[in-house]
Amino acid sequence: MERCIVIGASHGGSQVVASLRQQGWEGEIVLIGEEPWLPYHRPPLSKTFLAEDKAIEDILIRPEAAYVKAAVDLRLSSRVVAIDGAAPSATLEDGSVIEGTYLVLATGAVARHLPIPGAELAGVHVLRNAADVGAIKQRARAGRCAVIIGGGYIGLETAASLRKLGMTVTLLEAEERVLARVTGPEISAFYERVHGEEDVEILTGAMAAEIVGDAEVSAVRLRDGRTIDADLVIVGVGILPATTLAEDAGIAVDDGIVVDEQCQSSMPGVFSVGDCARHFNSFYQRSVRLESIQNATDQAKTAAAAMCNKPAPKAVIPWFWSDQYDIKLQIAGLSQGFDQIVVRGSLDEGRSFAAFYYKDEALIACDAVNRPKEFMLAKKVLSEGKSIPAIRVSDESIDIRELMPS
Ligand code: FAD
Repeated sequence: MERCIVIGASHGGSQVVASLRQQGWEGEIVLIGEEPWLPYHRPPLSKTFLAEDKAIEDILIRPEAAYVKAAVDLRLSSRVVAIDGAAPSATLEDGSVIEGTYLVLATGAVARHLPIPGAELAGVHVLRNAADVGAIKQRARAGRCAVIIGGGYIGLETAASLRKLGMTVTLLEAEERVLARVTGPEISAFYERVHGEEDVEILTGAMAAEIVGDAEVSAVRLRDGRTIDADLVIVGVGILPATTLAEDAGIAVDDGIVVDEQCQSSMPGVFSVGDCARHFNSFYQRSVRLESIQNATDQAKTAAAAMCNKPAPKAVIPWFWSDQYDIKLQIAGLSQGFDQIVVRGSLDEGRSFAAFYYKDEALIACDAVNRPKEFMLAKKVLSEGKSIPAIRVSDESIDIRELMPS
């Protein structure tokens, strides 16, 4: 009987198994994950799962019954230590080998650690999985001081959650502005204003040089000599795609496991989806590695269709969201390479606007803050390969429905 072995039990892996059954796969399915829990939603980790009293059962992607119904051989707390792409097969930590017809690498990513003295002290954490949040919650107490290193989405979301828990929060960003890698300067300034209003101290151009403490963290020392008290340090400086299994098996890797439009790697029979994959995106006609739920989910559907010899689902425009305080940011498209930003609404007051990114006068992306209608509009326009004249989007007297090009 055919067997599909899926390595990594999270957003990508869980969707692969669901989609395989939906597409009519009749063979066996083995889903292997090193974490002890059923696949759970990762976005709440820096949001409600940190700030509120939630259990892992509250954030499961699918109930256990769904895996039972789909006859999935679920191996949790099991780590794959090697794969043979040609066989293909997976070797588990206990030495047992599982052979299959297809292998899917949905191994995601690991949080980058900071190579500075003191990074190993108790009280210094990354935030990638539920175990990390469990450890952070042990130390997160009202009145205590938290230092967050890194002003990306995870750093900023964590700052908002720790403020909600009553902590004093300082956020260090090495660049001159937060979110420098992913948004325009105007949006960074907006987030810096909002976090200031919520009493988060943001220090930009601030390089952490050392984490100070005996056994436990007590402060963070900056390169310029300043020292900031800390009972808890969260390092949010990005992730590294988990590509070791693929590399060791001789599969092509280039900041991600290189896969084609069908999510097939350089080795026939081995697929890869999600944060660990560098996927040929037919929408952009180039390879990109994205870190989002939409990306993991849609690639999983694509890989499952390929393994079932079914037509690939239509390529969709990438989208993403981030929740901080009362702000829901929704992003459609990729803004890299923009040469103009046009804002609908005000960046300087309130918490609602949409920033439209243009390149050569064509719309390429939109960051919508508490503006679901603008997000939906941009997603639709971009999906249809259309644009909206910049002069029209900035004019709030024009009804949103009238902005849709015919
Ligand atoms: P992962 O979720 O990383 O899962 C990979 C799994 O594989 C892990 O469980 C790992 O332990 C397991 N694994 C790895 N190697 C092995 C092995 N050798 N053997 C067995 N198991 C293995 N995205 C959004 O779109 N919106 C958000 O608001 C958002 N917020 C986020 C907040 C946080 C705190 C984090 C960490 C991420 C957030 N993301 C968000 C990103 C999103 O969660 C990821 O893009 C998504 O989880 C990717 O799914 P994945 O299945 O590719 O990988």
